[in-house]
Amino acid sequence: MLRGLGAGLQATVDWVLPPRCALCSGMIGGRDGLCGDCFTRMHFLADPLCERFGRPTSVQETSPTCAPCLTAPPGYDWLRAAFAYDDASRALILALKYRDRLDVVPSLARWMAGAAGAQIERDDVIIPVPLHWRRYLARRFNQSAALAKALADYTGAVYAPEWVQRTRNTPPMKAMNRQQREANVRGAFAIAEQQRGALRGKRVVLVDDVYTSGATIEELSAELRACEVSRIGVAVVARVVNHTHFLQEFELE
Ligand SMILES: [Zn+2]
Ligand SMILES: [Zn+2]
Repeated sequence: MLRGLGAGLQATVDWVLPPRCALCSGMIGGRDGLCGDCFTRMHFLADPLCERFGRPTSVQETSPTCAPCLTAPPGYDWLRAAFAYDDASRALILALKYRDRLDVVPSLARWMAGAAGAQIERDDVIIPVPLHWRRYLARRFNQSAALAKALADYTGAVYAPEWVQRTRNTPPMKAMNRQQREANVRGAFAIAEQQRGALRGKRVVLVDDVYTSGATIEELSAELRACEVSRIGVAVVARVVNHTHFLQEFELE
């Protein structure tokens, strides 16, 4: 994006299009995409977290893996989110998806790397959650792919878009419950034979903007397990931490 521009050209762009905050549209000095006030509204997720799921836990918790993950283990090995999914992070993601605020991608990726970086190794394969081509044409870009590319740049891992295809254009999951979401994405992804071989034994990191019910990630994890990958991680901008918020929900897609 803009960070690849030379200093002189960048100054011209800033003069014509002064950087504005992605949330309040106020002018900002830097290129973080957020003004100071809006930055303080963001709820960064920090320790103590469930080692597996990245869900905030209390310091009193005795096991490194939280009770929900022990009762119903997720299909992936780890998940980390930069932010709790709330009104502020939702507004930021909507700005990225629907208001073309691609300039926030480097900052989002840096914050995701802050949350997940310790889990990611150089040879890891970073795969964005794919959009169906029909939706891609309508929206012109896949925000998860933009985030995955930037995260790969930050961590030195391998960016591998298009290793996984979305073969079915699933309807938006807004207002669906967990079971309906699982049924909605079942069989929605495919991995070509050549990629299946390339994935064997690899450590994979799936990237998405937001983690809500986990139905999409679980479906993808099952596909990847069938390719005998050695480890599956998930890095997202924001994750639902409180169940009430999930029930009120909204799928961003
Ligand atoms: Zn602002
Ligand atoms: Zn957990």
